[in-house]
Amino acid sequence: MGREKILEMLNSYDKNKIKIATLGSHSALNILRGAKDEGFETICICRDNEKIIYNSFDVADSFISINDFSDLLDKNLQNQLIDNNAILIPHGSFNAYIGNLNNLVVPVFGNRELMLWETDRERQRKWLLDANLKLPETYEKPEDINGLVIVKYPGAKGGMGYFLATDEEDFYSKSEKMIEKGFISREEIKNAHIQKYIVGANIYFSFFYSPVFNRVELIATDRRYESNADGIGRIPADLQLKIDLLLSYTVMGNFPVVLRESLLVQALNAAQRVVEVSKKIAYPGMVGPFCLEAVFDENNVMTVFEISARIVAGTTVGIPASPYSYLLFGENMYMGRRIAREVRLAVEKDMLDSVIY
Ligand code: AMP
Ligand code: AMP
Repeated sequence: MGREKILEMLNSYDKNKIKIATLGSHSALNILRGAKDEGFETICICRDNEKIIYNSFDVADSFISINDFSDLLDKNLQNQLIDNNAILIPHGSFNAYIGNLNNLVVPVFGNRELMLWETDRERQRKWLLDANLKLPETYEKPEDINGLVIVKYPGAKGGMGYFLATDEEDFYSKSEKMIEKGFISREEIKNAHIQKYIVGANIYFSFFYSPVFNRVELIATDRRYESNADGIGRIPADLQLKIDLLLSYTVMGNFPVVLRESLLVQALNAAQRVVEVSKKIAYPGMVGPFCLEAVFDENNVMTVFEISARIVAGTTVGIPASPYSYLLFGENMYMGRRIAREVRLAVEKDMLDSVIY
């Protein structure tokens, strides 16, 4: 869907009656609550199974029921959103369960083209390299592996089925085990992305690029709580060897982190360069939330192993405010609210076109 068509749709909206909508999944609590904090009515597009979450926290003013996340592309459903002057806030489930938003005519906050750059490993790598970031080495094929690697798949799968390997033989035997366990498919193994494993401290940076203020903001930082990687350390090494454990990285939650202050130099510079490059690769460039996933090694060097071009779930550690968002705003501010604030300011300044694609 061309940007022109979306902006045309946006033009037909009553800007004083905008509602904020999202799929009931991933970080919808954060997004919907943030919208309410900024005075918007909210719509949760939700499967029956998850409705309990959004009802329990009372963040949705109305629900649209779906059977499957891909129903979002349904014409009638889209018309319902358009009739409500709804702006959609995308999150990880848009990547994981829908992918290409080409057939979506409802205005989206952010840049849907950059979300495609995120899901295509080659393009993502090019983006980050152009921004002069240090990335982990990658290996074209399993035969090239030499040393500890992590094996990943396309899309936002939250670490599901990732595994570590040290050589070709190890790669194939572990992938068979992962397929047997039903974590991944044979097809996914063919498209696996093999990256050098960086040992260090993992930090996920939730940034926000504001077209209204023309600045990059650090909203929150977190690290992940992963199963079973974070459980294995509780078993003594001799027993680990006996039970032949298969390591996995399926995300279960997140912890807040604050960084050693001097490390912010690398992170803030990286975020600014990522935004600069985004403007060259996908007009109008980055809008709103993005996340850099990094590892800092023992020499304080930051390696970035992933970018997400939308809100990430870990940013929820920053409700109602993270130390960083408080430093910047002096009030409670978190990603969902920051998104809604930008929409509100963009309406007031008549620059909604700049935050929508
Ligand atoms: P869920 O609604 O929990 O099924 O999550 C939707 C998608 O987002 C899945 O692909 C998850 O792997 C991913 N996801 C959910 N929570 C997180 C998180 N805290 N960190 C990273 N990915 C996540
Ligand atoms: P991702 O889906 O890329 O966010 O990665 C999921 C998890 O895998 C991360 O939270 C890390 O624990 C781990 N991870 C991914 N890539 C690397 C890497 N190159 N080096 C070390 N750990 C990694």
